[in-house]
Amino acid sequence: MPAYGMRGTHGPSMASFTLHGIPVSRGISIGRAHLLTPAALDVKHYLVAEEQLEAEVKRLCDAIAEVHRGLQALWTELPKDAPTELGAFIDVHALILSDPMISDAAIDIIRSRHYNAEWALVTQIDELSAQFDEIEDEYLRERKADIQQVAERVLKVLMGTAQLAAPRRPDDEYQPQMIVVAHDISPADMLQFRDRSFIGFVTDVGGQNSHTAIVARSLDIPAAVGMSQASHLIEQDDWVIIDGDAGVVIANPSPLVLEQYRARQIVLQKTRKKLLKLKKTPAVTLDGTKITLLANIELPEDCGPALEAGANGVGLFRSEFLFMGRGAQVHLVPSEEEQFEQYKKAVVAMKGRQVVIRTLDIGADKPLDQAEHTALNPALGLRAIRYCLAEPQLFLTQLRAILRASAFGKVRILIPMLAHAFEIDQSLAMIEQAKAQLREAGQKFDEGIEVGAMIEIPAAALALPMFVRRMDFLSIGTNDLIQYTLAIDRVDYEVAHLYNPLHPAVLQLISMTIAAGHKAGIDVAVCGEMAGDVKLTRLLLGMGLREFSMHPAQLLAVKQEILKCDLPGLTRMTNKILRTMEPQAIAEAVEQMQTL
Ligand code: PEP
Ligand code: MG
Repeated sequence: MPAYGMRGTHGPSMASFTLHGIPVSRGISIGRAHLLTPAALDVKHYLVAEEQLEAEVKRLCDAIAEVHRGLQALWTELPKDAPTELGAFIDVHALILSDPMISDAAIDIIRSRHYNAEWALVTQIDELSAQFDEIEDEYLRERKADIQQVAERVLKVLMGTAQLAAPRRPDDEYQPQMIVVAHDISPADMLQFRDRSFIGFVTDVGGQNSHTAIVARSLDIPAAVGMSQASHLIEQDDWVIIDGDAGVVIANPSPLVLEQYRARQIVLQKTRKKLLKLKKTPAVTLDGTKITLLANIELPEDCGPALEAGANGVGLFRSEFLFMGRGAQVHLVPSEEEQFEQYKKAVVAMKGRQVVIRTLDIGADKPLDQAEHTALNPALGLRAIRYCLAEPQLFLTQLRAILRASAFGKVRILIPMLAHAFEIDQSLAMIEQAKAQLREAGQKFDEGIEVGAMIEIPAAALALPMFVRRMDFLSIGTNDLIQYTLAIDRVDYEVAHLYNPLHPAVLQLISMTIAAGHKAGIDVAVCGEMAGDVKLTRLLLGMGLREFSMHPAQLLAVKQEILKCDLPGLTRMTNKILRTMEPQAIAEAVEQMQTL
């Protein structure tokens, strides 16, 4: 059951204030605040085009009518000896359902704000819940729970019909510039925002490399997290500026400040436009070394932006996003056929370029089902390959789907969170089993498909011979490698200041992995967020990295940096950095490197 938010919507407040948090996705956004309470996050959000509004209203009315019929049926089926409270309880629900405060108000929200039916209903229920909280009479105050239960009944019906009502892009004339402000947004919730009705995200909690932040970056939308009280201080419809580079949010800015940010926005847009000219330029350093630039994607649709940015392929397809955000179907994992179609879509879209598909990395901040998320310490729990090996049928299904997609282009399989030799051996054995099943079924696949390991647990980086002996390639997941090396939860903003890619221990582990891979003659990529950080491009090149995988939005800026680099000088400087254990000296040397 969704926990309904306690806050309602308010009229705009006018006092300007600034909040500081963690920058997670670059750029500047200026728009109206759109507050999302936890309840609102449990349902799909999209804006309905003008000509679809009445159909959406009908969808809501039909759902309400169906719940009415259900309640009537409950009444008639009540056993004679049922307690009288039960009948009264059904009556109360039926009464609430007929109340215009619910249906008429939600319909009004659909028509005036263009919200989809679920979102409109939840918005109205949040508003009513806040009003109920202010009631003195305890009995009446407790009726809030009844309203929420009735809303849940309607939402259940609506979600059953949600697939039929596809999200629509708002038409051009109805293009509100909305900035989502929430306490927290899960990665699955972020996926709902892909229709670009929203131009920015602000959350109270979250870390720089939480998956929510990563999705915001992949959407290329300015975002700031760890804002602590933002969702309490900012009010519905407030004007908000997000400075995604600085992690600053300004609510109700003065006209002068607004003007300054508008001017900066224009400069940024021009810089981006200029970068587009590099799309077809090969990523080659001044000394003639070719660098491979790959894209990180969450869904096959991201291949479009990857190609537009001139990516040489996909270096990380986070397949778990196919398993998330499935609304009412949350318990159903995608079938082999459904997964195959999605993988194939990406492979075909990339037109012969390599596509590295990572097997299901579920768990930690990407639970399959929020409600079943009970692990005490999820980041150290049954995550990624551990989960897959514990669920062999689910893993085999995915492996068959990936293998079948390999008949349509160059596919590689990447296994996340490996630490133990037996995990590698079992994974490889499962891949062989999936191949045997496909052979038996007469299905085509690439017999020589390459299998790689993510190096994202310090134990793996310290036991590299175990990996290079068994694997065809390595990919360094710096997000988790940093999390586990420094023992800091990547989603916890209270320890976000300790998340330091330049910590000497982190640099040693990355450098050792690159060196071990090269010595063994196998490819090594970095697919964590470090690969897309232009301030670290030179350092990674100096460590010997030749494959970078990042969000398409960051790719051209990294390429621009690569074109200016001379490797012999960078290598010398990097070797010096790797010999120092003093953070200040490392930071200064990395700064100095930018001018080499
Ligand atoms: C990583 O850990 O660096 C990585 C690329 O994987 P994810 O961010 O999906 O955990
Ligand atoms: Mg990881």
